[in-house]
Amino acid sequence: MAKYKEQLQAMGFGYDDVTSVAYRKINDIAFIVRVNPASKEYNVTAACRPHYDNSVGSLRTVLNQFASQRRNILKTAFFDGKQIHICYQITFDILQGVNDAVNFIMYCVNQFECVPCCSKCGKFDVVDVYSVENSVSALCAECYGTLQSKITEDIVRESATRTNYPMGILGAILGSLAGAVVWLLFSLMGFIGYIAGFISGFGGIMGYKWLGKKISTGGIVISIIISFVFLFLAMYLAVGIDLYNQFKAEGLVELYGLTFKDALDFIPDAVQLDSEYAGTLVYNNIFGVITFILSVVICAAGLKSESKVKNRSMKLT
Ligand SMILES: [Zn+2]
Repeated sequence: MAKYKEQLQAMGFGYDDVTSVAYRKINDIAFIVRVNPASKEYNVTAACRPHYDNSVGSLRTVLNQFASQRRNILKTAFFDGKQIHICYQITFDILQGVNDAVNFIMYCVNQFECVPCCSKCGKFDVVDVYSVENSVSALCAECYGTLQSKITEDIVRESATRTNYPMGILGAILGSLAGAVVWLLFSLMGFIGYIAGFISGFGGIMGYKWLGKKISTGGIVISIIISFVFLFLAMYLAVGIDLYNQFKAEGLVELYGLTFKDALDFIPDAVQLDSEYAGTLVYNNIFGVITFILSVVICAAGLKSESKVKNRSMKLT
């Protein structure tokens, strides 16, 4: 993404790092460029439409011609009633494509007397590019005002919401419990339950957020501790069940009257006495721990990036 940012900035575009969107106004027309490496395309949009409705048909025809001339590099070019969209296949260097799209749109603007219009309400007006939470769009001042007041309401409502800690902890326990149960079930069937690590980490944090209404960094840490304790207990129980079954198979249960509790108590000794057995235990459990760590990292990173765009609203152009 960094190279695209540099290329777009070299063309005079502003770049919003939070949403990875480039923006620029040329002769009052608001341009937005979105690069999407995942779908291997980049979009250039311009918020404008012909001043006279009878030019719309010709604009669409010209866009179709433009698209068919560049079939090998272009995905689509169309007018949605409020914006002109030109979508290219991504290349190492997007400068040429963006230039091509901007020049062609400016040609259309002159040819079909296009005037800036809001991409939300469609009204002819002064249009600027705004970032509202995680979406960037070309809006009139009125539409932005409406969105902004909604965000202000959200902020007020949210600050009035207090974290319900007991319920949060209950949520973390329930989420973790799900992971623990899956781990036990899989190990009883003789499989390694990689997925249980994911469920534990994800379930713990999301359970806390769900029932506690809000989650802070402290809440995330508490959830991680709770879910790890549950996962560890499940792993320990699974090993205990395994040992008890071994005792049974060897006839030790009948001979010495060994119980399931004896099997659990024997685990630390078994690990210390038999290094091979300890190795097997590490092998059987390490994947659950790895997927657990992965899930809490992904989850915490997701919550952090969500909080970055949450309640964000600003004028970009
Ligand atoms: Zn509007």
